[in-house]
Amino acid sequence: MLRSQPHLRRRLVSRAVLVSLGLAVPGRELAGQEPGLPPDPAPTPTAGAAVHRTAFLMGTRLDVRIGGLDDRERLLAASQTVLEEMRRIEELLSTWEATTPLSRANRAPVGEVFPLPAELHRLLESALHWSHRTGGAFEPRVGALVRAWDLRGTGRVPEGATLAHALAVSGDRGMTLTSEGTVRRDARAWIDAGGFGKGAALDAARRLLADHGVNQASLNLGGQLLLVGAPADQPRGWSVSVAHPRRRGATVAALRVRDASVATSSASERTVEVDGRAFGHILDPRTGQPVPAWGSVTVVAENPLAADILSTAFFVLGPDDGMALARSFPEVGALFLEVTATGDVSARWTDPMNQWLVDPAPQATTYSPGRPMRPRP
Ligand code: AMP
Ligand code: MG
Repeated sequence: MLRSQPHLRRRLVSRAVLVSLGLAVPGRELAGQEPGLPPDPAPTPTAGAAVHRTAFLMGTRLDVRIGGLDDRERLLAASQTVLEEMRRIEELLSTWEATTPLSRANRAPVGEVFPLPAELHRLLESALHWSHRTGGAFEPRVGALVRAWDLRGTGRVPEGATLAHALAVSGDRGMTLTSEGTVRRDARAWIDAGGFGKGAALDAARRLLADHGVNQASLNLGGQLLLVGAPADQPRGWSVSVAHPRRRGATVAALRVRDASVATSSASERTVEVDGRAFGHILDPRTGQPVPAWGSVTVVAENPLAADILSTAFFVLGPDDGMALARSFPEVGALFLEVTATGDVSARWTDPMNQWLVDPAPQATTYSPGRPMRPRP
């Protein structure tokens, strides 16, 4: 069955390669890609000037391409402000740096209110709202579980009592958000921004690009994409390849996306290995267990924060319950790629996804290794 542990390549979590290289990439527009991905053909020409910048952000690589304006100075200014803005969000949210407001909230004495900067407060409110909407499948207050499994180190299988305690102090029982700030209820509880930080940063970038009048941009933050407008010769949108959940070099589905964000979650993109068993970095907050590597979920949504959060939540829920929840979001596309026992990929997606899939298709299809998914007529 699918839930039997597949063999996964050993890939330890380290800061340098951390935070998901992601599985969706703009197929043509980004020349520089993560290691292991096939080289792209030449970039699509854009009308007027274009700038391309890369940076290291949130433990991963950021690619920013902005075009569509004739004035190069304006493009450069826009790209600079976008980088600074995304860095600012990282400095608010990172739990890898001890000095950020979120890290300090995570260390606050138990029982005391920790006042937050207004923007961080709003972001956490939003994250917890999404947690509620996903029935707790997305739950950023899983810090105690992340630590119990040592997902940021070399990995460990927690003992029963440790796991039970970490589970008990995840969610509301570990940390709450009041109108005044956060309150920790247990010394082990903390908020992990790993499941929504990239979406938050891309959302901030989206607002800034709009303020600067930029209507053609593609951003790739460790695999999550923000696609604004469309390339000059592709009015339907930017080409995006969705990779095989296990073999990043193999394209399973092709999308054309404009004015939306694309986020992918899977268990094989980052794993720790303990005693020959590989564990993914996404936890099921209901059981405290790492979610098995059943495949991947790619979400397309206008709002990058929603795309980031929902891809994580749908992955936790799995292809059946995930599909059921995904159907309740009429404007969000979700593509579930499930690896079958034979290594094939079976794909299912919600109706809104049809507007982005290159060939709109029926609700299920099967992919065999070596050839891209061809939706059946
Ligand atoms: P993503 O790659 O966006 O799916 O997010 C995965 C990251 O979110 C993990 O590396 C953890 O830092 C964190 N995380 C793990 N499980 C959950 C969960 N159930 N809800 C929210 N965040 C999670
Ligand atoms: Mg996510």
